[in-house]
Amino acid sequence: MASGSPFFDDLRNKPEVIDPPQGEDLMDINESSANDPTQTPIKPNFSVSSSVRELLECPVCLNAMYPPIHQCSNGHTICSGCKPRVHNRCPTCRHELGNIRCLALEKVAASLELPCKYQSYGCIGIYPYYSKLKHESQCVFRPYNCPYAGSECTVMGDIPYLVTHLKDDHKVDMHSGSTFNHRYVKANPHEVENATWMLTVFSCFGQYFCLHFEAFQLGMAPVYIAFLRFMGDDNEAKNYSYSLEVGGNGRKMIWQGVPRSIRDSHRKVRDSFDGLIIQRSMALFFSGGDRKELKLRVTGRIWKEQ
Ligand SMILES: [Zn+2]
Ligand SMILES: [Zn+2]
Ligand SMILES: [Zn+2]
Ligand SMILES: [Zn+2]
Repeated sequence: MASGSPFFDDLRNKPEVIDPPQGEDLMDINESSANDPTQTPIKPNFSVSSSVRELLECPVCLNAMYPPIHQCSNGHTICSGCKPRVHNRCPTCRHELGNIRCLALEKVAASLELPCKYQSYGCIGIYPYYSKLKHESQCVFRPYNCPYAGSECTVMGDIPYLVTHLKDDHKVDMHSGSTFNHRYVKANPHEVENATWMLTVFSCFGQYFCLHFEAFQLGMAPVYIAFLRFMGDDNEAKNYSYSLEVGGNGRKMIWQGVPRSIRDSHRKVRDSFDGLIIQRSMALFFSGGDRKELKLRVTGRIWKEQ
């Protein structure tokens, strides 16, 4: 991170900026408009809009500015998040900043209407400047994060893109069909810290599902969890159910659940215990043998609710 400018560091440490938007990723209008070739002219006054948008970029944090927008006595603007952090000096001309609000620019911004930044993903919405961010935070076309759990993968995209990515870049097993019969084998199951991340992708009903199998520490107890996530939004995930079965030595555990949307991180699902949880001692009992190796057979089924 750049450290040339003292207030820049400050800023990054304190994300509690600006109203109404929250969170940095919601504020990168400028970035998206620069990179997004699909934001082509929609209205005749688009070139005007585009230069106004440049005016609305805060010179310090480069985010789009929202009211109250401030200016120095020379007219340089700055966002309300950055203003308290520049020690009353205009970052552009170094003059005293004072407390002047730039009402004209705020009003001009209010007259802007811009396409949703996920236009290239299929959203055709056009929104007033001040409600665009709210829409984008909930836009159904917004890309999904990569559902792979074992690494800090930052890839984002729509579902077909992510399926290809999982296959090609994470070498994830792909299965078609709504039933499965899976074996998890691990040589040294006592190293729970060395978490076993496994992901299998199932395609059925024209959809994709992620079956996760992980080792984690539940309080003091080492456990395994298996759960299913739906590659799509929550409202659609609710149309499906799944069951998982694991057993051995005449015992069996059965879990029935509703797949969670991959909008929920695997960690969130895991930490809410929304899946089949198997104590390690039980898992080793199911594995048979000398309890030195984990050998679990997990069978399952996905079905569509009527
Ligand atoms: Zn700023
Ligand atoms: Zn200035
Ligand atoms: Zn949208
Ligand atoms: Zn990934």
